[in-house]
Amino acid sequence: MYDVIIVGGGPAGISASLYTIRANLKTLVLYQDISNLIKTEKIENYYGFENGIDGKALYENGLNQAKNLGVELKEKEVININPKEESFEIVTAQGEVYLAKKIILATGNKKKKPNIKGIQEFEGKGVSYCAVCDGFFYKNKEVALIGNGQYALSEVNELLNLVKDITVLTNGEEEPKWRSDNVKIETKKIEEIEGDKKVESIKFQDGTSLKIDGIFIAQGIAGSVDFAKKLGILLKDNEIIVDENMQTNIKGIYACRRLYRRFASNIKSSL
Ligand SMILES: Cc1cc2nc3c(=O)[nH]c(=O)nc-3n(C[C@H](O)[C@H](O)[C@H](O)COP(=O)(O)OP(=O)(O)OC[C@H]3O[C@@H](n4cnc5c(N)ncnc54)[C@H](O)[C@@H]3O)c2cc1C
Repeated sequence: MYDVIIVGGGPAGISASLYTIRANLKTLVLYQDISNLIKTEKIENYYGFENGIDGKALYENGLNQAKNLGVELKEKEVININPKEESFEIVTAQGEVYLAKKIILATGNKKKKPNIKGIQEFEGKGVSYCAVCDGFFYKNKEVALIGNGQYALSEVNELLNLVKDITVLTNGEEEPKWRSDNVKIETKKIEEIEGDKKVESIKFQDGTSLKIDGIFIAQGIAGSVDFAKKLGILLKDNEIIVDENMQTNIKGIYACRRLYRRFASNIKSSL
C-alpha cells in the first residue's frame, strides 16, 4: 500500500512527488512517456536556467531527481481508479492493481475533443464521455464508441453488460490491438454526427451511415477529467474544483493546479 499514488509524470506530478517523498510519504508515480514538456524545444521561463533548457532534458532531469529521492516511477497507463473503504485501487492497462491511501491527479492538459461535426452540439443529447456515468441510459440500445486504445477497451467493458450492441469507431486510426466478442469494429473516417433533437446516426466520409442511439468518446488515454467524471468529482467549466489544499470534493483525491507543494503537508496531517 502506497501513501500516495500520483497519476502523471510531467512537471506537475513530479513536483508533487518531490514534496510527498520528502515528507516521508511512500510515493508511486504512474505515467506515460508523453508529457507536454517533451514537445517543448526550449523553456526560458523556469527559474535557474540562464540560457533556458530543452524541454526533454528538463523532463528527464525531473524523473531522475524524483527517482534519486526515492520516488517509485512506473511507466503504466492508468485506466481506472476505484475508491475502497479506506484507500483507492488504481488499475493499469496492463491489468495491474496498485493500492494507495491518497491519489494525486496530474495528467496535464485536457484532451482535445474529436474534431467531428456534431460532437459539441449533441453533448448530453447522445454524446457522452463517461460509460460509468451514462451507460445506464443506453440499456438495450445501440451505441458507438470512438477510440482504439486500452482506455477505449475499459469503456467498452463498462457498456457490454448494458447495451444491446456496440460498434467501435477508430475514425481512420488503426484497428484496436485488442479484440472483444460482441463488438464490431469500423475504421472508416467519420463525416458528422446527425440527428434532430438527439443523436440518430453517424455519417462516414464514404457516404454510408450507421444508425445509433448514442456515442461514447474514449480517444487516447484517460485524463484527470475522465477519472473525475467516473468518481463524481465536481468540475467547473470542465476543470476539477479543488479546495485550498488542492483536495477535490472526494476526500483523499487531489488534483494538480500548480500549487503542488500543499499536497504533502495536507496528506501527511490527514494520515
Ligand atoms: C509545444 C509546447 C511548448 C511549450 N512551451 C512551454 C514553455 O516554453 N514554457 C512553459 O512553462 N510551458 C510550456 N509548455 C507547456 C508545458 O509543457 C506544460 O505546462 C507542462 O508540461 C504541464 O505539466 P503537467 O505535468 O501538468 O502535464 P504534462 O507535462 O502533460 O504531463 C502529464 C503527465 O500525465 C501522464 N498521463 C496522462 N494521462 C495518464 C494516464 N491515464 N495514465 C498514466 N499517465 C498519464 C502523461 O504521460 C504525463 O506524464 C509548452 C507545451 C507545448 C505542447
